[in-house]
Amino acid sequence: MTPSPSDETGPSGAGPSGKKAPPSETRYVFVTGGVVSSLGKGIAAASLGVLLRERGLRVTLQKLDPYINVDPGTLSPLQHGEVFVTEDGAETDLDLGHYERFIDHNLSQDNNTTTGRIYRNVIDRERRGDYLGRTVQVIPHITDEIKRSIRVLAKGHDVVISEVGGTVGDIEGLPFLEAIRQFRQEVGARAFHIHLTLVPYIQAVGELKTKPTQHSVRELMQTGIQPAALVCRTEHPLGEEIRRKIAGFTNVDPAGVIEAIDVETIYEVPLQFRRQRLDDFVLARLGLEAPAPNLAVWKRMVRGIKGPSSGSVRIAVVGKYTELVDAYKSVEQALFHGGIRHDLDVGIDWIASEELEGERDPGFLAEYDGLLVPGGFGSRGIEGMIRAIGWARANGLPFLGICLGLQCAVIEFARNVAGLKGAHSFEFDRASPHPVICLMDEQRKVTTKGGTMRLGSYRARLLPGTAARRCYGADEITERHRHRYEVNNDYRELLAAAGLVFSATTTDGKLVEMIELADHPWFVASQSHPELKSRPTRAHPLFASFVEAAAIRRGGIEIPAAAASS
Ligand code: GLN
Repeated sequence: MTPSPSDETGPSGAGPSGKKAPPSETRYVFVTGGVVSSLGKGIAAASLGVLLRERGLRVTLQKLDPYINVDPGTLSPLQHGEVFVTEDGAETDLDLGHYERFIDHNLSQDNNTTTGRIYRNVIDRERRGDYLGRTVQVIPHITDEIKRSIRVLAKGHDVVISEVGGTVGDIEGLPFLEAIRQFRQEVGARAFHIHLTLVPYIQAVGELKTKPTQHSVRELMQTGIQPAALVCRTEHPLGEEIRRKIAGFTNVDPAGVIEAIDVETIYEVPLQFRRQRLDDFVLARLGLEAPAPNLAVWKRMVRGIKGPSSGSVRIAVVGKYTELVDAYKSVEQALFHGGIRHDLDVGIDWIASEELEGERDPGFLAEYDGLLVPGGFGSRGIEGMIRAIGWARANGLPFLGICLGLQCAVIEFARNVAGLKGAHSFEFDRASPHPVICLMDEQRKVTTKGGTMRLGSYRARLLPGTAARRCYGADEITERHRHRYEVNNDYRELLAAAGLVFSATTTDGKLVEMIELADHPWFVASQSHPELKSRPTRAHPLFASFVEAAAIRRGGIEIPAAAASS
């Protein structure tokens, strides 16, 4: 274990000895959750991140996931939500998407680890003989590896916020809790524990109940962790009395009991925390001084979201994991960002593509102002996506295709415009006479599934005079990828002759990155995942332009010239 230079550890550090840590030393905030899952730990962690960043501190966020998969790349989006891909091609938990969107900073593989990854590192080391003669155990070897994965982030950061996935009391989370307990023991007052709980409202008696919070904190204390602050999710204001009661039962300073009442938009949470001075409380405890946060931009954005002045658009997202919005978290957020950019409210209907394979005629899409077909894997629902895209192409409905969405658009065009009967993707029909989407030669040899796709950031060159070039306002761009299949180069000439525009390729020209149609109001698709780079304060240009096209289709909506994308 090699601690980074800025982060010498051990009981001689600050804390138990009572010594104040020098301001240069990295501080650690640990976020745990109790009572039930899905309380929004990721948003809470990211919101604290925003406040600290806006106070001029260098902040990073990390997710520690207790499951045994090495990464979520092989998990079904219906189980675990979207797989968020970072610039360096790491397949990570969707909370990293929230982190990036909130602190407006790119993260990497180091910002997400899992039990599987921790064990793999320890077992690799054991095989190399690094522990020769010793029994390898959860304590200290696994917990040491967890602490190492946290400490790796210290370099260049004033504060590292680590969120532990799952709920206290889960068996699989225990090594992580033990590791963060030890961490506090080692770095003392440079570590701060926040626990997120639920304060339910019981309708029948009209009361808020603190018992689940008491139990959850007790459960956490049994692992040796005394939380310094509690973030209480609630549907009703806590009130001074409940706050004092919770503080009394949990040994938490009343100023550290934060009310997290349901809000209209997740982007309001940092403002909610600021009103209760959570950031002041955390910094005081960590012995850090920083100027008050500058939240002017953030406040303006939230005001815009809550009262859009240019009306609304309705977007149909036709995909295969529509039962779970989390499966398309970044797509949803990027559409909202497009709305923020143009002061529009974006209403999204999630439509299962399978529904479009039977009786249902895609004509109902006429009710919408735009169609988005997002990414996905496997053949279920593909024909429904192709039908929806065909309708959008023929009826001038603005269309944005993402990854699988691009592939389906190419298939649709090949079949119905270029006359290639039976055109398909090699992924779905190995016997297709026209595999317009196929595997690259070098990929054919790969037999394992985990981490074997085209992953992470790739550079693309945009064709002058195209909508893509106009949207981005640049000749070269980078976007993140996560896919195995590519447009088949053998068909490029034929499809181009039929009118398909290949508006972006990799810089060597070998792989198609974007397509579009010239004789259509707005029909653009990308092999990459632009949604992953969209931020609330900086909407991704493709999403901004798509939402704008939808508003124009809806008509009657004035887009102020200054807000219109270039
Ligand atoms: N299944 C397709 C591929 O692997 C598309 C992937 C995606 O949409 N992310 O190429």
